[in-house]
Amino acid sequence: MSRKPIVAGNWKMHKNTNEGINFASSVQNKLLKVGNVTVIYAPPFTGLFQLKVSPPYHKSAQNCHWEEKGAFTGETSVSMIKACGAEYVIVGHSERRQYFGETDELVNKKISAIISSDLDPIFCIGETLSQRESGETASVLKKQICDGLNNIESLSSIIIAYEPVWAIGTGLTADAEQIEKAHSHIVNVVSELYKKINVRVLYGGSVNSNNADQLIKIPKVDGFLIGGASLDVESFSSIVQIVEDNEEKK
Ligand code: PEP
Repeated sequence: MSRKPIVAGNWKMHKNTNEGINFASSVQNKLLKVGNVTVIYAPPFTGLFQLKVSPPYHKSAQNCHWEEKGAFTGETSVSMIKACGAEYVIVGHSERRQYFGETDELVNKKISAIISSDLDPIFCIGETLSQRESGETASVLKKQICDGLNNIESLSSIIIAYEPVWAIGTGLTADAEQIEKAHSHIVNVVSELYKKINVRVLYGGSVNSNNADQLIKIPKVDGFLIGGASLDVESFSSIVQIVEDNEEKK
């Protein structure tokens, strides 16, 4: 896996199939040349198949079930996701943890299933405000990583999205020092688990076109996972362009 930065748009429960297709084509028309960034769209399941993309654009699911098939009403397996042409699956998003009871144990099962199918998890972790205020950020992140990757013996690359829960959809972003410290810690924890591993750490939490330039320059930030600002053509295109330009200057 390359070290190209990633800009991923998590559309959550927004955009029907046609809206998603129109959005992606508008972004593509705006961004005539994207060579240094991997752009990922994570539409709702209903739009995953029909959204046609080619590199540098890719598709991700927002969730998956860990079993291959079975009596799990309303669920979607990784092989079904793969058959839609998606290459990534977001897993462990704080909204899934908060509203749908996604525990570290379930995250672990999902990551195993995703890796077994040769897709890439976008593994979300992050502390709540009270955990940060009580000085638990490092231990919370470590536990989420170790439990999420439990029994996954060999891994050559992983994408982790550091998303402080208090910064998601709130307009608050972590500051540069908090982000650099968290990302370094994540890289260290993962590197202790796997000797030779390519870890990319995305930042997520109220990224927008006004703060993206500052955020992408923070050491150890390998791109973004974006919610709100990924829904708007102007904002999303402008963030991709900022990351592209930043990478070109390196
Ligand atoms: C997210 O949901 O992953 C996210 C980062 O949302 P927002 O950009 O809206 O804070």
